[in-house]
Amino acid sequence: MADYDFDLFVIGAGSGGVRAGRMAASHGARVGMAEDRYLGGTCVNVGCVPKKLYSYAAHFHECFTESAGFGWQLGQAPTFSWSTLRDNKKAEIERLNGIYRRLLENANVTLFNGRARIVDAQHVEVAGKRYSAAKILLATGGWPWIPDIPGKEHFLDSNAIFDLERFPKRFLVLGGGYIAVEFASIFNGLGADSHLVYRGSLFLRGFDREVREFTHDEMLKKGVNLHFETTIERIEKQGEVYHVHLSNGEQLEVDAVMAATGRRPNLDNVGLENVSVEQEINGKIRIDDRYQTTTPSILALGDLIDGPELTPVALAEAMRLVDCHFGKGEAAPIDYETVATAVFCHPNIGTVGLSEEMARKRFERIRVYSTTFRPMKHTLSGSEERSMMKLIVDDASDRVVGAHMVGEDAGELIQGIAIAIRAQLTKADFDATIGIHPTSAEEFVTMREITRH
Ligand code: NDP
Repeated sequence: MADYDFDLFVIGAGSGGVRAGRMAASHGARVGMAEDRYLGGTCVNVGCVPKKLYSYAAHFHECFTESAGFGWQLGQAPTFSWSTLRDNKKAEIERLNGIYRRLLENANVTLFNGRARIVDAQHVEVAGKRYSAAKILLATGGWPWIPDIPGKEHFLDSNAIFDLERFPKRFLVLGGGYIAVEFASIFNGLGADSHLVYRGSLFLRGFDREVREFTHDEMLKKGVNLHFETTIERIEKQGEVYHVHLSNGEQLEVDAVMAATGRRPNLDNVGLENVSVEQEINGKIRIDDRYQTTTPSILALGDLIDGPELTPVALAEAMRLVDCHFGKGEAAPIDYETVATAVFCHPNIGTVGLSEEMARKRFERIRVYSTTFRPMKHTLSGSEERSMMKLIVDDASDRVVGAHMVGEDAGELIQGIAIAIRAQLTKADFDATIGIHPTSAEEFVTMREITRH
């Protein structure tokens, strides 16, 4: 590969791009990388990291109230400063950006500030200069997509929402996916009057039905206003107030209106027109099992290709891609079916494997073990919050094929269960595991009663 300026040129320094660049360099590849925004991509800057920090902030609110039952007296009512949260978040992200920069420098990756454009199968152009590369990796991720409705310019997207100048006392989000339920919960927790508008009859399409219904009830209890089978017809701005006209005839006045209506591959201005790179109907880049596009020297991963749009998935793809092209090519294909995921709505959802609906289609007969309960903490806190746990078992093999939880720290808990599901453990293995008392987690090894077949 010595005839090229680089062995690998990565376009985009997000989770997947940075991991691929660093790992390729550790195999001795000469790596160039271009980024025109922020190091760390969506996850670090306008996704997982700031969202989780804001979710923590929102959880404090109920902790203050709940502490009274445990004997705490807080004196005057706590107040919330949006600018403190926002600015502390900004400082933390700048710290992470610095870490990313140092990681790349220490790995000897040559970093370019600018949008790189593909010129042909072996060349990119960045900041007015042309470089040759044996392989070019597209790792530009996704970008929020907003539907075309009158007043769409008033929508905030998931990039802009983090840095609002003022805290919106009345907040509305359009959509029923991860981002919509998370932000409806966050702003509700921070003290806003929070509305979620979704076109379907129940949000979180694709998740286990019982999980969706339970989450619906819990979010309602916490005070989120849920408007289902409804869309936004138009948005008008009067002064600082947004008038949101809904398809059900209602009109809501809010201080911020957000669209969380999905993301699309971020492929503007990367020079795709200069090469033959086929895309799927949904705009995702078509790849083979070595992450090669229809121009084999051009590779793609992460949110640009089909599959779950999740940081750990992009990281796993990066590791495998590097193994295929710069390593021994021994890494096993990624098992997308057992990727665990959490939704940081309040309470959190943690889920791995099949939903009950999917399992019913896949297996002749299943066993469902499902329980809801009041967590011990809330016996004194006064909170009405309940938790839900659920296991789905293939009756013939006794294998646990799905595990779901709604409740505090569900993501923390489901990660361990994901190992058991990936290892194809049986319900008998779960039953033989001694619980940890007193925890919510012990429910996962003490569910004996079949809820239904
Ligand atoms: P999702 O694809 O999860 O959800 C999009 C939502 O918008 C769906 O409810 C969809 O409805 C709705 N929608 C789509 N088009 C329209 C329209 N024209 N009018 C009204 N509603 C519409 O996207 P998100 O933006 O929530 O998140 C993007 C991805 O980012 C997620 O899929 C996830 O992979 C990732 N993510 C992961 C997180 C985590 O791991 N905790 C957190 C945040 C994001 P319908 O269901 O009817 O199609």
